[in-house]
Amino acid sequence: MTGRPADSNPWSTPCADPDMKLDGDLRADVVVVGAGYTGLSTALALREAGLDVVVLEADRAGAGASGRNSGHLSTTVGNPAKVLVRSLGEEGARTLFRFSDEAVAYTERLMGSLGIDADYLANGNIGASVHPNHDARLEAEVRARRALGARVAFLSDADMRSRGVPPAFRCGVLHEPGGVLHPGKYVRGLYDAALRASVRVFEQTPVERIDDSEPTVRAVTPNGVVSADTLVIATNAFTPSLGRLTRALIPLRVCCVETEPLSTDERAAIGWSGREGLSTTHSIAESYRWTPRGGIAVGTRIVRYARNSALSTKGDEAAFSVLEQALRMRLPMLTGTKIAARWGGWVGFTTDTLPLLGVGGPHGNVFHALGYSGHGIAQGTLLGKLLAGRVLGKRDELTAPFERKAWSWPPEPLRWIGAGVALGALQRLDARTDRKIAALESHSR
Ligand SMILES: Cc1cc2nc3c(=O)[nH]c(=O)nc-3n(C[C@H](O)[C@H](O)[C@H](O)COP(=O)(O)OP(=O)(O)OC[C@H]3O[C@@H](n4cnc5c(N)ncnc54)[C@H](O)[C@@H]3O)c2cc1C
Repeated sequence: MTGRPADSNPWSTPCADPDMKLDGDLRADVVVVGAGYTGLSTALALREAGLDVVVLEADRAGAGASGRNSGHLSTTVGNPAKVLVRSLGEEGARTLFRFSDEAVAYTERLMGSLGIDADYLANGNIGASVHPNHDARLEAEVRARRALGARVAFLSDADMRSRGVPPAFRCGVLHEPGGVLHPGKYVRGLYDAALRASVRVFEQTPVERIDDSEPTVRAVTPNGVVSADTLVIATNAFTPSLGRLTRALIPLRVCCVETEPLSTDERAAIGWSGREGLSTTHSIAESYRWTPRGGIAVGTRIVRYARNSALSTKGDEAAFSVLEQALRMRLPMLTGTKIAARWGGWVGFTTDTLPLLGVGGPHGNVFHALGYSGHGIAQGTLLGKLLAGRVLGKRDELTAPFERKAWSWPPEPLRWIGAGVALGALQRLDARTDRKIAALESHSR
């Protein structure tokens, strides 16, 4: 498929059987399209309920965002509390925070029950202020979220310093549940578990067309057709390429870089012994984490949309250099440290940054869960299981916020123009914040 980057993704954990392509026609109870967290979690839950499940994956399991993200297993939701209350109502916002907690807890339980060793460090994640102007806003947001039941705590400057968090990260909001994991090992663990459970997973088998005109739905691939009572779309950012839900979400390109392993001196200089995941209060956050290889990974900050939802990697080099500059600015003790890996991936973004779960098709048997807007490790894992429940006719109160009628993205070229203007404005705002931080620093020297 198009859009696959030639990069140095350090999380890559190739799956077991490189020749597992579909060759011939098959029948199953459910066919799942996409083998990332969502598809594999759905398949595992359906199999546990005794259904015969086939998973079709265009590339290798985990080749999408699930095998190339930053690994923050977090309860974070993208929007401020007051925006959530405006869009979901107070009860809906409370349900969302309960869902976020359960999503992390479920992912932890799943890794435990399936015996997945994903180098998981359950040390929480901190959303950190990077400029004095952000401090009070962050503290107010913590109060608003706590009032809605979120498990967050405010960390003052003194709290951050006593945890050893580097000084560029001033005060913070601690998301207690969660931590950081190895995304590739996690998705590989789900894949192995699916094979053990006798889910039939076919890789390098792109679904070219979904035919849902008859009650038996057909997933058409180059060398065979899978017919099933139900089809699950678990292709997240790639869904518009499949010709489905083209107004519901857009693919955005996100990049990351990772340093080489730090020396003993660099480790001592950086501190940060708690190894919490960090993200910043920029309009488009930067994320930071220790990696299992002993380096620091930084991600996001720049996101890009290409016209017609094309999966274009153009602009990755510029994004890598912005990330590298951000790393040197936030962690100046690493000025001489080399970058060892650079990579990018696709996130599926909805108009209100909340995921969507639903069912469509003329026979009501084509289900989907997608649009995690950059927070899909926990959300995709739990929504996969809850989606399996929906296929089996069960409803869970936690899915209520995601079964809403969301605003659609406008058609092209308005979408491309709008995304360009909005993302450009946010990036300029963030560049201004960084200029102010630099001015403050030179003033205090
Ligand atoms: C750089 C980056 C950093 C991120 N950091 C974080 C983070 O720290 N924390 C967090 O929670 N989230 C993060 N995310 C988001 C998270 O990775 C995603 O939300 C999550 O992986 C989505 O999982 P998924 O299974 O729904 O989709 P994906 O993992 O994208 O899987 C979709 C699969 O469908 C396959 N596919 C596509 N089209 C077809 C077709 N026609 N036929 C068959 N198969 C098809 C793809 O090859 C892919 O394997 C990040 C994402 C990126 C890119």
